[in-house]
Amino acid sequence: MFNKILIANRGEIAIRIIRACKELGISTVAVHSTADEHSLHVRFADESVCIGPSASEKSYLNVPAIISAAEITGADAIHPGYGFLAENAGFAEICKSCKITFIGPTADHIRQMGHKSTARELSEQIGVPVVPGSNVTLESAEDALESAGEIGYPIILKAASGGGGRGMRIVRSDKELATSFEVVRSEAGAAFGDPSIYMEKYIENPKHVEMQIMADAHGNVIHLGERECSIQRRHQKLIEEAPSATLSADTREAMGQSAIALARQIGYKSLGTVEFLCDKDENYYFIEMNTRIQVEHTVTECVTGLDLVKEQIRIAAGESLRFGQKDIRIYGHSIECRVNAEDPYNFLPSPGVISGLNIPGGPGIRVDTALYVQSEVTSHYESLVAKLIVHGIDRAEAMAKMNRALSEFHIGGIKTTIPLHIDILASDEFIDGSYHTGSLDSMLARM
Ligand code: ADP
Repeated sequence: MFNKILIANRGEIAIRIIRACKELGISTVAVHSTADEHSLHVRFADESVCIGPSASEKSYLNVPAIISAAEITGADAIHPGYGFLAENAGFAEICKSCKITFIGPTADHIRQMGHKSTARELSEQIGVPVVPGSNVTLESAEDALESAGEIGYPIILKAASGGGGRGMRIVRSDKELATSFEVVRSEAGAAFGDPSIYMEKYIENPKHVEMQIMADAHGNVIHLGERECSIQRRHQKLIEEAPSATLSADTREAMGQSAIALARQIGYKSLGTVEFLCDKDENYYFIEMNTRIQVEHTVTECVTGLDLVKEQIRIAAGESLRFGQKDIRIYGHSIECRVNAEDPYNFLPSPGVISGLNIPGGPGIRVDTALYVQSEVTSHYESLVAKLIVHGIDRAEAMAKMNRALSEFHIGGIKTTIPLHIDILASDEFIDGSYHTGSLDSMLARM
């Protein structure tokens, strides 16, 4: 096992990882920007190193500074969290060459799955269903028109190296495609350093259902059930739940086996999430694989009783999985609401100093946050400031707990998405579980 882990991240996920390390008896090193000098993750870690000014490019993405911090403090592993360097294959390679373990998959696996069109091809080859689409990246507008002719409108253009809901555009006609092609290509080049794009059939109103998998270095691969993440705004998740309110046991099993097959095919070793879109008839299609710990891992933790971050660390240290598929049981129901520092109805960022804070509690409530009174939410980083997670014996109890917890949650000094969550929880589509990725937009239009 590792002696000391450096956490190359900030906010709630840095704290989440520090907590796992403490329970495993591993020392921790926090890194921080000058803006985060007084952050909770810095206080909770055993040691801390300032790695640069506020801008992420100069601090949390500053590879030489992070590697130097690990070397100076004698850390034997780096946990990247999510975002920042978590899916940066070059960073994983540099860690390896410096003899520091990157807590995640190999650089090759990050690369393979990070290129979404390559991942699609791989899935198709092994018989995992994919959304009908172009099997290669599109080189020209003519290529795109030809593919669209075969697939049929509407289609969605996607950046092969995209993520975070960015680099996607829905196209409904040849005319629109001719102009969108170059726009998406240049946006992809600017945002992800890779202009390559591909195309998929745009599935109207699907559910987003993803499978959590866990694979060790000894050939053991299991799945931990699904999370449904269909409450989205601008293709970004806002509420997640486990299990899905509507998925049948047969589809769950088939999806789990598809996710395992994909991981086995490439010899994947770490935690991972295989994402699918699912239509009304429960036909499901692979869209991408994420090779990091995800924001919404918490709902899987609640229903399985496992600590995924500790398991991820154990896998990186070379340990075998301590349980097989038959040991995994799903207990009750869990829901997570992402609390963002944003205006709840137009999603504009709302930075500020926290003037008051009341964190909900009681049975079945978990809040992952780095907020404290007088802490500052700056506009330098992403807007997620807290995750409110509930666990109940069934979905009805989980919803009642979430309503109760949202009503207790007070964050003074900034606007947050809490009022929006209250509205979503009260909607018919959420209550009956029929909601899909288009539901939040229709709810917002009604509000
Ligand atoms: P990212 O890597 O940016 O998260 P994904 O490929 O995972 O992108 O897609 C994010 C979301 O975009 C999905 O959950 C879904 O809401 C929407 N989406 C992606 N592909 C399609 C598609 N082919 N049809 C309909 N919606 C899609």
